[in-house]
Amino acid sequence: MKDIGKEFGKELASHHWNENYRQLVKQAFADPEVQALIAKHRSELTNEELKRSASKVYEFVTIKNQLKRGESTLAPGYEPKLSVVNHTFEVAYVPSQQLLVERKLAEVHSRVKLLNLPKSLRQASLADFEIAGREQAANAATEFIQQYLTTPHEFHQGLYLSGSFGVGKTYLLAAIANQLAAENIISMLVHFPSFAVKLKNSIGTSQNTPLIETVKKVPVLMLDDIGADQLSSWIRDDVLGVILQYRMQEQLATFFSSNLSQQQLLGEYLTVNNRGEAEPLKAQRIMERVRYLSREIVMIGQNRRRQ
Ligand code: ADP
Ligand code: MG
Repeated sequence: MKDIGKEFGKELASHHWNENYRQLVKQAFADPEVQALIAKHRSELTNEELKRSASKVYEFVTIKNQLKRGESTLAPGYEPKLSVVNHTFEVAYVPSQQLLVERKLAEVHSRVKLLNLPKSLRQASLADFEIAGREQAANAATEFIQQYLTTPHEFHQGLYLSGSFGVGKTYLLAAIANQLAAENIISMLVHFPSFAVKLKNSIGTSQNTPLIETVKKVPVLMLDDIGADQLSSWIRDDVLGVILQYRMQEQLATFFSSNLSQQQLLGEYLTVNNRGEAEPLKAQRIMERVRYLSREIVMIGQNRRRQ
């Protein structure tokens, strides 16, 4: 390829331009990206048109080099782009590839709401989920996602992941939510004991209503660590009961994770309230909704938190 910058530099030298500027423009035309662009459009460009491009080319290369040196005054993530449109050189300031990737990622993240759960769960993925000993849970998760994405408006039973502390229940829920988020599905992971405390602390105020409404209506709800606290009749009947009732009626996907099996959840958590009163019928009603909404999968394995 001919050295277009050099050739054009000669052309410029014949004008009464300030020597210093001429030198800088010449350097700008020598930029490989500029040369490639000119080569691509050489047949459609007259020398006169090339000459008129000097200030655009100079602007482009100057800004590009400032960016490289970390001296750019552009908005973070933006970069200059030189193009030829209708025989005219144009410099546009466009988001970089990296910025586009970051934006896309932020968009995916925004589809998973975490309530009192660590941000690190945003990194959880099914691809990284170590399956050994947890085949059943991994298969059920994959199956759910596939069916949900095929018919998002039909009812799909969620999972009730039970198993001891540290086997990866929360991790798996987050991995499912992240996978759904990549497919534009919105979900919410709620640490249930913290949610209950939050509600109790603002009982009688109007602050609770919007939160309960959001949890009720989110397309995919995951109640994490249910059974880990002491339940009051109010949380059981007027919060949990109401949320699950709504989700059953509206056929919305609902997941649970618990250290307790479904059987234990009924007997040890839902039946006796925090004042020690046994309310088996009310407990039974909640349990019917849990069983309707989710299928129990027992996860076994070592406690990964000790590693
Ligand atoms: P659980 O909710 O059952 O108590 P967690 O989901 O909190 O357990 O998992 C415990 C720890 O192990 C967390 O730090 C989590 O990031 C990690 N972990 C769990 N399962 C996996 C997995 N399959 N692959 C990679 N890391 C995992
Ligand atoms: Mg957990």
